[in-house]
Amino acid sequence: MIPRMHRSHRVAGALVGSAVGDALGAPFEFGPAGRFSARFPSPARGAHTEMCGGGSLGWEPGEFTDDTQMALLVATSLVERDGLDEADLFDRFRGWAAADPPDVGVQTRAVLGSGLAWDAAAAEHFRRTGRAAGNGSLMRTTPAAIRFAREGRAATLDAARRISALTHGDPATGEGCAIFHELMRVALEGEDPLAFLPFALIAVPAEHRARWAAVLAEDWTPEQATESNGAVWPTLGQAVWALRHGRDFAEVLRLVIDLGGDTDTVAAVAGGLAGAVFGMGGIPMRWASVVHGRIPGHGNRLWRLADLQQLAAALDGGVQQSYDPGVIPRIGPAEVLPGIWAGNLDGARYSEGDFAVISLCRLGDPFPHPVHRLAYLADNEHNADIDAVLADILDDMAALRAEGHRLLVHCHGGASRTGLVLRGWLVREEGMSVQAATAHVAERWPHLGLWNDSFTAALHRLRPDG
Ligand SMILES: [Mg+2]
Repeated sequence: MIPRMHRSHRVAGALVGSAVGDALGAPFEFGPAGRFSARFPSPARGAHTEMCGGGSLGWEPGEFTDDTQMALLVATSLVERDGLDEADLFDRFRGWAAADPPDVGVQTRAVLGSGLAWDAAAAEHFRRTGRAAGNGSLMRTTPAAIRFAREGRAATLDAARRISALTHGDPATGEGCAIFHELMRVALEGEDPLAFLPFALIAVPAEHRARWAAVLAEDWTPEQATESNGAVWPTLGQAVWALRHGRDFAEVLRLVIDLGGDTDTVAAVAGGLAGAVFGMGGIPMRWASVVHGRIPGHGNRLWRLADLQQLAAALDGGVQQSYDPGVIPRIGPAEVLPGIWAGNLDGARYSEGDFAVISLCRLGDPFPHPVHRLAYLADNEHNADIDAVLADILDDMAALRAEGHRLLVHCHGGASRTGLVLRGWLVREEGMSVQAATAHVAERWPHLGLWNDSFTAALHRLRPDG
């Protein structure tokens, strides 16, 4: 069942979902199966979440790895060159590899360090070794799949194969990327990528088709893999398997990381597809809020959630512009409900650092607060996933309150979205009717705004009796 939503939610969900999967899977890389669920038997919504960092390479919580670093090189090259410029992209890859990133795939390192030109390096490596079917080109292809989706099947297949071939000389890897691009193309259109699999396989040349059809079959299970998931076939096979069996974004990622092995890469691939299917609002905010990282060899810029969202929009043909809300007279913070404070954007921005902040709007410059959740919620009628987003917010708030945190809920003006969450808290935690909750908040928070009817409708759906 594919939820209906605007394309922009899916585009952002794909790029952010891939980075989230990468960061979430990184601490479990090369570990045994089941380790993620053993450590997190239930959702970890307090100050410390499943974005735990660590692993053999000592990642920070929420830090993405080489998968996303390379994906961002693909993305920025495609946007800045307005299309595929293989020489430019290969140069960016080389500059990155030369800067000694914490993790580089064996094959990618060999090809990028060979000193050969972009159109010879990978092919030469494949001729010499005969081994080139790693998952290192599949893991970074989400941005290209977004960029070329609007140009149609032939264009996106071609781009997938050409970008893969920059580092991976085995054509089987290019076919894996091509299938991924096709699944992404239909997912961004709001169609079911799983139902589309047979049609995607038609694009694969006959000599590669049977092997791909095997790992993408409806009854294929990860135990049937004939290679480790460092190879390209089981990587896409596992990602598709998890998408088939997970009911939401979080469950898809849990399933795939629990398979063990190359967890960051398989989760990056699964996260890209699941993000396109479930949308940005389907990604738990405790994961999306903390995703971040730098690109070695390409300046010291720190990439965060808002940067990824802007880049995703640019890949889909929008304009890439950073958001500057300007200076707003501060409102709040004020304690409206016990332990729960409210404010507007700058009221929250300049609040005391021990608040656990729940942001319901775009921020511009990031806040300094160590515990900070960013929800994907617009003050309009187009939050297709509003029930899931609201439940995610209220669940996180309950967990953070249970740990004793002072909560600060805010949006741009502190009126409508902030009011939705304060009222939702009373409806769900105190069992109030929507009418009673609205009156209760209005008495204590004069800035409450009630113009968004879709918010009030969502509050009624929080109650079993409507
Ligand atoms: Mg990695």
